[in-house]
Amino acid sequence: MAWETVIGLEVHAQLSTQSKIFSGSSIAYGAEPNTQANLVDLGMPGVLPVLNRKAVEMAIRLGLAIDATIAPRSIFARKNYFYPDLPKGYQISQFELPVVAQGHLDITLEKGESKRIGITRAHLEEDAGKSLHEDFDGQSGIDLNRAGTPLLEIVSEPDMRSAKEAVAYLKKLHALVRYLGVCDGNMQEGSFRCDANVSVRRPGEPFGTRAELKNLNSFRFIERAINYEVERQIELLESGGRVVQETRLYDPDRDETRSMRGKEDANDYRYFPDPDLLPLEFDQAYVDALAENLPELPDDKKNRLMSDVGLSAYDASILVSDKAVADYFEAVAAGRDGKQAANWVINNLLGKLNETGQDIEETPVSPDQLGGIIDLIKKGDISGTIAKELFEIVWNEGGDPAAIVEERGMKQVTDTGAIEAAVDEVIAANPDKAEQAREKPNMAGWFVGQVMKATGGKANPQSVQQLVRQKLGIE
Ligand code: ADP
Ligand code: MG
Repeated sequence: MAWETVIGLEVHAQLSTQSKIFSGSSIAYGAEPNTQANLVDLGMPGVLPVLNRKAVEMAIRLGLAIDATIAPRSIFARKNYFYPDLPKGYQISQFELPVVAQGHLDITLEKGESKRIGITRAHLEEDAGKSLHEDFDGQSGIDLNRAGTPLLEIVSEPDMRSAKEAVAYLKKLHALVRYLGVCDGNMQEGSFRCDANVSVRRPGEPFGTRAELKNLNSFRFIERAINYEVERQIELLESGGRVVQETRLYDPDRDETRSMRGKEDANDYRYFPDPDLLPLEFDQAYVDALAENLPELPDDKKNRLMSDVGLSAYDASILVSDKAVADYFEAVAAGRDGKQAANWVINNLLGKLNETGQDIEETPVSPDQLGGIIDLIKKGDISGTIAKELFEIVWNEGGDPAAIVEERGMKQVTDTGAIEAAVDEVIAANPDKAEQAREKPNMAGWFVGQVMKATGGKANPQSVQQLVRQKLGIE
């Protein structure tokens, strides 16, 4: 009998606040070590944490977006463990009563069918500092800039059954936090990181023992790490071994996971309510006001693009998959034909970005510029072929599309007199082909091609088509 993979994911999303969750220090990335750590972050005796209202707001917004229950009363707890970069000896987190519980996210599987993934909880907590091992020979440095950075830990149900499903869930969640503006999603800087819990079982049997793959920070590595781990567990079980509950690290260079440490159970942390913080309480009016102000979310946007603009499910899902892409598309489509805008964004812009390995944020062609190109096609100033050339020019050199067309004489020839002359010339130069075309009308295409060539692609294709048929006497 085959094995079934079971995956549950824990995502740590760094909230996009200005300051830390319990202190006024900045959370900006990349500062000199220990320049953004104040007495609270250093865990000095006698100081008290003060909760950041914005962090709470962001947690609730995420909760609303995943249709979760927002707890009107939740509490902060101390999770006790020793680590050199955790000066207090405990992390402030939420345990029994998280602010967000019982939500879900729908993912789209390969064949287009949808699957609902449960989200057990999302709780607020503080990040720890960082131990720096590289720059110090035989010693470690401690940087407490990250200590106290607000995190939302989003814990899924063990509902995923393959690495692909896990990646689909993560991409969806990643897009969602960016739409909501609660997390910048920067995976390189660790603003959005994932622990994958992986086990295997025979279908129908109880869940197997899980291994936790820690701190995966790229979609590609997550997929590979899970696939490797599944193979490892299956081999182990089939050779009579047992999976132990442990934390493992993925090594991308060797494409394998290695044991890091045994995995504690929750009761090993001796959680208890933090006596320094009051319970977190708010009323329904406060939650309702936040709900009112949610932006249009990816699923709603996708549905709207399909029903109002008439895009296919596939095209719509590409455009909504990333907030920056969606914003770009909407800017191009405003006041223009939505389908045409979608085609240009997907086939030309995203195609080119893919080719050059750039992000939408780095695009050299702005929505205004691309919109300008589309307007020129609409006005009949340029053909689709010239538009592609123009796109290349704008991509490489920048500039205003209309001005470029003017300056470089790229305007389409709509003057029928000029086109007529070119048609006459081509027919005169190819009398035998003209004879054949009168017999076989689809030969007319060859003449159209020749005339387009003779006019440097600038003749209006419809006029050429019409004139060629007319002059050859084809109906
Ligand atoms: P911990 O902090 O100990 O990792 P959490 O409750 O925060 O515990 O997270 C547990 C995660 O592991 C959840 O995402 C859950 O869905 C997942 N999980 C639990 N049991 C299994 C299992 N047998 N196989 C795979 N994933 C599991
Ligand atoms: Mg965990």
